[in-house]
Amino acid sequence: MDCRFDEDQVSFRAEMRRWAEKVLAPHYQTDDKTARFRPQLASDLANMGLTALRIPEEYGGQGASAVVAGIAAEEVGRADVNAGYLIINTALIGDIIVRNATDEQKAAWLPGFATGEIVPCICVTEPGHGTDAANLELKAVPGGDGWRLHGEKTSITLGMAATHAVVLARTGGPGARGVSAFWVDMSNEKISRAPFDDLGSRAIGRASLHFDGVPVTRAELIGLEGDGFVSVMQGFDYPRAVIGLLCLGAAQASPDEALQWARDREAFGQPIGKFQGVSFPLAESATYIRGARHVCYEALWLKDNELEHSAEAAMANFWAPRLSTEVIHQCLLTLGHLAYSTESPIGQRLRDVIGLEIGDGTAQVSKLVISRGLLGRAYAP
Ligand SMILES: Cc1cc2nc3c(=O)[nH]c(=O)nc-3n(C[C@H](O)[C@H](O)[C@H](O)COP(=O)(O)OP(=O)(O)OC[C@H]3O[C@@H](n4cnc5c(N)ncnc54)[C@H](O)[C@@H]3O)c2cc1C
Repeated sequence: MDCRFDEDQVSFRAEMRRWAEKVLAPHYQTDDKTARFRPQLASDLANMGLTALRIPEEYGGQGASAVVAGIAAEEVGRADVNAGYLIINTALIGDIIVRNATDEQKAAWLPGFATGEIVPCICVTEPGHGTDAANLELKAVPGGDGWRLHGEKTSITLGMAATHAVVLARTGGPGARGVSAFWVDMSNEKISRAPFDDLGSRAIGRASLHFDGVPVTRAELIGLEGDGFVSVMQGFDYPRAVIGLLCLGAAQASPDEALQWARDREAFGQPIGKFQGVSFPLAESATYIRGARHVCYEALWLKDNELEHSAEAAMANFWAPRLSTEVIHQCLLTLGHLAYSTESPIGQRLRDVIGLEIGDGTAQVSKLVISRGLLGRAYAP
């Protein structure tokens, strides 16, 4: 067994850390205050190859391993967890297209990911269906040389900024097998968008999207009719471990600051790190972060080696965002009143990371996957 990253991965991490610190970190808090997506962010990430990490080189991508995508997310998360949404969305949606689209569709759509011209979003959730997504209602009504989309999607990350969307719509009967996936140009005038006023990740934003008879053709159907739900849900797999690392990157930035504070800040005539009440939570954070990182990278390594990794990805999905929230909260307390001010990035990190406890499926869904693996379907919820 060898738990070390190889030389290329170590230098990629160092390059990412330098770049994210210089290019992303200075905008982390100002972007939150303006609460608007900054288009330069997509160009900056695209210039570093981060919007097409997992896309094959023949379509302009990096053809990177899942482990490398995890390293990128972790380092970006340390500087600006919100910028990581572009890594996650492009990896998730890029993978769905790579696995299910035709060669013509890939050639038409994927190069735009690499240049940053395409900012994609994924539209699954509806007002009446979140976890219960297989029963979604947005209708694809046959018409013209394809369908017309009628209905509402909600809670869509990058919904206000996206240029294109993968939309799940009902083309057939009830349940998952009646659902198909479509590639939709978001500039269509029959789409209207309404933003959420969110607690966190305000520079990325979520939106509700109304589809009022939006035409889609057969050339925009991804995969086979009726296969959309399964192909999209299969995409929500190893990216969960990438999301875990994005959160852990954000979490790790806080103990770094708290450790320095524990050395510098004095109370009762000594550095506060001398008090066990201060140093033990830092020791616990370091231990838990290390454990969760191992789970995330194990899931990604298994994926790269074409081994079963659903349980590990599910463990990463529920544990890493939760742990990150707890670690950031604890560090805020260690830094005291100063960290409660909006001058400090710690409170913002807390607000931002909480969203990822829900965003890609809740902890309960992940625990369902894990418990089914442990008990067998016949004995699990
Ligand atoms: C920051 C953020 C970003 C998001 N981005 C996107 C996006 O880009 N695209 C998109 O389509 N959606 C997105 N979502 C929506 C997200 O996928 C849903 O919020 C999520 O699937 C849960 O659905 P819900 O919020 O409707 O909760 P519900 O499904 O109503 O669940 C409410 C509660 O009940 C629990 N619950 C439900 N069913 C079960 C069960 N069977 N067993 C145990 N517990 C259960 C849930 O875990 C949850 O705690 C985003 C959400 C957030 C917060």
